[in-house]
Order: sequence, then C-alpha cells, then structure tokens
Amino acid sequence: MSYYSPSIEKLIEAFEKLPSIGNKTAARLAFHMLDASEEETNEFINAIVNAKKNLKYCSVCFNISDTEPCNICSNATRDHSVICVVEDVRDVVAMERTHEFKGVYHVLHGSISPMNGVGPDDIKIKELLARLMNGEVKELILATNPRVEGEATAMYISKLVKPLGVKVTRIAHGIPVGGDLEYTDEVTLGKALEGRREL
Ligand SMILES: [Zn+2]
Repeated sequence: MSYYSPSIEKLIEAFEKLPSIGNKTAARLAFHMLDASEEETNEFINAIVNAKKNLKYCSVCFNISDTEPCNICSNATRDHSVICVVEDVRDVVAMERTHEFKGVYHVLHGSISPMNGVGPDDIKIKELLARLMNGEVKELILATNPRVEGEATAMYISKLVKPLGVKVTRIAHGIPVGGDLEYTDEVTLGKALEGRREL
C-alpha cells in the first residue's frame, strides 16, 4: 500500500530502476523533479532523449561516440599500432584520464563469464581479431579488470592473438585484485599501464 499518488509512485519506481538508487533516494529525486521548473524538467528529459538518439557505438573500437568512427579512432596523432583492450566504455574514460596512453582502444562490452552465461561470442572478440588482420597492430594491451572474469578474458584473447605475431601485454601493478579500472585513481592506473608485462 503506497502513501503516494499513483503518478508520483510511478516516477519513484522509474528512479529506483537506476543503478545504486535505493527507495529513499528515488523518492528524493522524484520530489526534486516535481519541484523543478518546467524548463529544468524539459532540459533533463531532452538530455536523455538526445543522448539516446545521438550516441552510437564506434564501428571500429565500440566506444560510445557521437561520431562514426569515434574521435579517438579518427585521430591521426594517436598510435594505431597499439590497442588497449577494455571491458567497458567507462574504462576508456579511466585510461584517458591517466594521459599515459596514446594508442587506440577496443571495448569488449563485457568479460567471459561462464557462470553468467557469457561466452567469447557474446563480447566483441571476433571484432578485435578482425582489427588485427591487416598486420598494422604491433601490441595489444589487455586492460580487463583484475577479477576472475577479466583474467579469464585476458588469457583467452592472449591465446588467440599470440599466434598472429602480435605482442600481448597485461597491465599489472597497483590495481588491487578484484578491483575496478573505473574506480582506480589515474596515478595507479598510469603506473599499471607503464608496468605492463608481456603474456
Ligand atoms: Zn573508435
């Protein structure tokens, strides 16, 4: 039994579906929106609608982008012979914040996790291999998260890629096991990139 009117209840429910938003926060956000001016509300709604409409995945690296290809893939000053492989688009942002990496990226959109029914074909591994076929790529830096799934994914890719004669490295030092690239500070992540070892 709810104490709120059905329309407020619906708004609270919508906020509650967002990650890490509990019931109390959802209610706080809902009431904040109700107090906001029509202009503010429209701005908020349009930001969501426009982001959904304009943002696409880069067909080369699968990073989220307003342009095709993305501004990293189309940047001639970046080193296109080094690809940093990450699990998530947010990891690209984390790597970029270090200002240590001048290569390009490949976003897998997940990691291999048999427990959750995610196999190699469910993430962008085929697409990564296709990028290696022209022989221009000299190094693959595997920057998947240091968790069981991330390690398994790194090992899987390493086994596939090494026969192609591409150097495969894994970022190592500083990132705690079980940690998250996204939440690692840029100094630690920069050092991890610097201290990568060959697989
Ligand atoms: Zn791209």
